[in-house]
Amino acid sequence: MNYSDISRWCGANELTTFRGGGRAFAYFPRIGGEFLEVLTKLMREERRPYILGGGSNTVISDGELDAPIICTRHMRGLTFEGSTARFEAGVTVAELMREARARGLGGLEFLEGVPATLGGALRMNAGAFGCQMSEFAIRVELLAENEGGYALDTRTPRFAYRRGEQGIILGGEMRLLPMSAQESMARRAEFLARRRAKQPRQPSCGSVFKNATMSRDEAEKLGLLQYANAVADGGKNAICGEKNVVLPAGRLIDACGLKGAREGGAMISDLHANFIVNLGGATAGDFLALAVLAEQAVYEKFAIRLAREFVLLT
Ligand SMILES: Cc1cc2nc3c(=O)[nH]c(=O)nc-3n(C[C@H](O)[C@H](O)[C@H](O)COP(=O)(O)OP(=O)(O)OC[C@H]3O[C@@H](n4cnc5c(N)ncnc54)[C@H](O)[C@@H]3O)c2cc1C
Repeated sequence: MNYSDISRWCGANELTTFRGGGRAFAYFPRIGGEFLEVLTKLMREERRPYILGGGSNTVISDGELDAPIICTRHMRGLTFEGSTARFEAGVTVAELMREARARGLGGLEFLEGVPATLGGALRMNAGAFGCQMSEFAIRVELLAENEGGYALDTRTPRFAYRRGEQGIILGGEMRLLPMSAQESMARRAEFLARRRAKQPRQPSCGSVFKNATMSRDEAEKLGLLQYANAVADGGKNAICGEKNVVLPAGRLIDACGLKGAREGGAMISDLHANFIVNLGGATAGDFLALAVLAEQAVYEKFAIRLAREFVLLT
């Protein structure tokens, strides 16, 4: 293979939706076979690559990354058999939904507006409005790491909160729901409206921190139930359970008075405090300074250590 056809130096503005940060040498294989070839070549050279999809949960450190990136976004195979979609990792959520709708299928409308690839969304078990990828994925094809190399495996995926299968996802299968295009478009419009009312439009990497979970007793002791109740709006989104409560990271950061806090070209969104937006010219350093500010403030006020959701490539 002629590697120069599928590789080049790229800036963070091209690789990530935050658009600020450094540059990296990236390979863009077009099919699984090319992906394997690139991976094998890099492993032989003892250069361990980062895997990137849409870059919508990723920030690239300032400067030049030593490690190369293999980006799946040109791996776009997508076929349907009944209600099952078979996809390669680089297919985007938007593409899948467009093609599904044309076949009387739906289901992932809750992720409309999220600039993710299916590989990345499966890896992170992306979710919103009480739904998540785990409800639809039935099989993943992945390269699982074993001693000194990778082995191809196909399995039923295992998921946790914002955590999917480990390993490199090359593709998979999802079972979608029978749904008219009209109904799917109506659901899409509803979710997009809710998203736009709550989330900033400026470049970002999505939620910076995971929501925190703790027992109801502990939350009560810390006087935190109000923050959990703030997102418990009944039905599917009621995450204030009998034993455990989920404390939205954005509410905790907001309670520290950090909405609108700025560092260089970055700002903690004044619309949703769990987003750090790029106002123009933000560096990864600006982003990280705000993330650390939020972590420290939340720890000082609530004794909660926020877990990072974004992935930092260094
Ligand atoms: C405007 C906006 C809104 C968002 N809203 C949501 C939301 O509602 N819910 C939500 O959960 N997230 C949301 N996100 C975050 C993000 O879109 C998700 O985490 C998504 O799953 C990331 O997909 P990606 O392809 O962009 O992954 P990337 O950012 O490219 O990668 C993320 C991680 O996945 C790994 N990865 C990527 N592809 C693969 C692969 N093929 N195999 C193995 N590992 C891989 C990477 O190595 C990295 O660790 C939002 C982001 C933005 C910018």
